[in-house]
Amino acid sequence: MTKIALLTSGGDAPGMNAAIRAIVHSCQHHQYECIGFFHGYNGLLNDEWQALTHADVGNILQFGGTILKSARCPAMCLPKGPKQAANTLRKHQIDALIVIGGDGSFRGLEALKAHWEGQIIGLPGTIDNDLAGSDNTIGFATAVTTATHAIDKIRDTANAFERVFIVEVMGRHSGHIAFNVGLATGAEAILSFENCDPADTAPQLARLISQIQVQQQHNHDSFVIVLAENLWPGGPQALKAQLAEQAGIDSAVCVLGHIQRGGSPAPEDRLLATELGLEAVNAVSRNQDRIMIGKQGSTLQAVPLSGAINDGKPVNGRWVAAHEDVLTEYLIKHSE
Ligand code: ADP
Repeated sequence: MTKIALLTSGGDAPGMNAAIRAIVHSCQHHQYECIGFFHGYNGLLNDEWQALTHADVGNILQFGGTILKSARCPAMCLPKGPKQAANTLRKHQIDALIVIGGDGSFRGLEALKAHWEGQIIGLPGTIDNDLAGSDNTIGFATAVTTATHAIDKIRDTANAFERVFIVEVMGRHSGHIAFNVGLATGAEAILSFENCDPADTAPQLARLISQIQVQQQHNHDSFVIVLAENLWPGGPQALKAQLAEQAGIDSAVCVLGHIQRGGSPAPEDRLLATELGLEAVNAVSRNQDRIMIGKQGSTLQAVPLSGAINDGKPVNGRWVAAHEDVLTEYLIKHSE
C-alpha cells in the first residue's frame, strides 16, 4: 500500500489545516496510508508522528494554525539533518512526502531529496505569497483581508485626529502584502521593495515629507503609510523619528505583526488549500517528483520545486504603477 507522509513547516499560514484535511481525505479515497509528522522537520528528526484518518481532520478547516504544528528546524541546514530525516522516512517505508510551507521549507525538501529515493511534493503555504508557480499561496488572502480590516479601523482614528500613521505589514522580503493592502485601503503612501531602495532612503523620505505637507495643506483628514517589514533601516520607529526631526511631522506607529498569520482562513484560502491538497495526492499517484502544486488562473499545475523557490514572483507592475501614477498623483504632482 502506498504510504504518504505529511508535515507543515516554517511560518504557519491560515488554510494549512484545510490542506491537511484535503490530503487525508484524498489518501483515504485512493486507499493510501497517511501519517503526519509534528513540528515541521523536527518531527522527522525526532520520529514524532501520528497516523491520520478522516476522524483526525474533522472540524479543522475553519481554523488558522496547523494541527500538525509548525516550527523552524535549524538541524536540517546541517549535513546530518537531511540524512537523519531520510532514515526516518525509510524506517516508516514512506513513498512520498508532502510538505506545506514556504521557500525555506522547499529548500529543506531539496536537501532531503539528496539522501532519499521517495517522491517529494511541496504545497505553497505562506502568507508572503513569494513563491513562483502559483498566483496565490495558501494564507495570503487571509493575511490581506486581516490587514485590510485592521487598517480600516486605524483609518477611523487617524481621521478623527487628522494623524499620520505608519502601519507596518508582514511579507518578509516581498511586497505582495504591502501592495495589496495598500491599494485595498487607499493608503496615501506604500513603501515596499518595488518602489523604495532601502540602501538610499533619503530621496524617498524627502518625497514622503512633501506629500504629507501637501496633504496637510489640502486639509485631508489623515495620511496612512503602509510600510513593508524589513524595508526601512531601523524600521517604522526610525521612520517616525526622521519625519519628526526633518519636518516636525508627528506620526503614530502600528506594527500589525502576527495577527496577519492567524484567524479563520478566508474562503479563498480554504478553497485553494483544498484544491491543492487533493491535487498533491493525485500527483503522488502519477509518480510525479520534485514538484510544487500551484494554481495559475483557473489551472492547477505542477512546477519544478527549484523554480518555485528561485524564479521569483514580482508584485503586479500595473498595481505599482496605478498607485504611483494615478491614485496618489495629486500628492506627487503638488509636491514636485
Ligand atoms: P518558510 O518555509 O516559511 O520559508 P523557513 O525559511 O524558516 O520558513 O524554513 C523552514 C525550515 O525549512 C527551516 O527551519 C529548516 O528546517 C528548513 N530549511 C530552510 N532552508 C533550508 C536549507 N537551505 N537546507 C535545508 N533545510 C532548510
